[in-house]
Amino acid sequence: MRLILLGAPGAGKGTVAKQLTALDGSVQISTGDILRGAVQAGTELGRKAQEYMKRGDLVPDELILGIMEKRLQEPDCAKGFLLDGFPRTIPQAEALKGLLAKLGIRLDAAVNLDVPRDVILDRLTTRRTCSNPKCQEIYNVKSKPPKKDGVCDKCGSPVVQREDETEEAINKRLDTYNEKTAPLTGFYEREGLLLNVSSTSSDEVVAAIRKHIGI
Ligand code: AMP
Repeated sequence: MRLILLGAPGAGKGTVAKQLTALDGSVQISTGDILRGAVQAGTELGRKAQEYMKRGDLVPDELILGIMEKRLQEPDCAKGFLLDGFPRTIPQAEALKGLLAKLGIRLDAAVNLDVPRDVILDRLTTRRTCSNPKCQEIYNVKSKPPKKDGVCDKCGSPVVQREDETEEAINKRLDTYNEKTAPLTGFYEREGLLLNVSSTSSDEVVAAIRKHIGI
């Protein structure tokens, strides 16, 4: 399948993407994961992106588009992909449209995960993430704690609170989302690709997506 997952930070894009990849071998492409990996590795991209991310601002479109143009042409995308956290601005959506047309790729849908703000705030403040850039497994202190406190079940690395998950950065990320990313639902509605799903259960979201695209 070839999907865009839209929705505020904490709406559940990553969780839904992981469940969907298990169905048909599509790959999850999370620009946030790619950028956090680059920051930890201390690459030039990471150095450029770090300050924006820490503040809860978006990284400039040119940096993101450079990453995605290469990533979408890697061989593992042949089976399908789930875009998690990209596009996030109208210029990114326009650029993606051009890139996909150039590569001859059609999307199945742009799925908007519509989750109330109080649920989002609660999830983000209680979310914890594996610090290993190759893993980045997501936990939640209330609903999905690691088996051993502070240690990733999958790879044994420390599980931490992300630098941009302080209350101040979370509020900034939600404002940025409302201003720059929420208008993408209108963009994809006009493209005839929008599927809006209002549910806080990832199982229900996955079921709605499967029904919509017929898998
Ligand atoms: P995420 O893990 O998707 O919440 O992304 C974490 C941070 O990475 C965001 O707050 C942005 O600073 C940056 N980021 C991730 N994806 C993008 C994107 N498509 N465009 C701009 N910045 C991004």
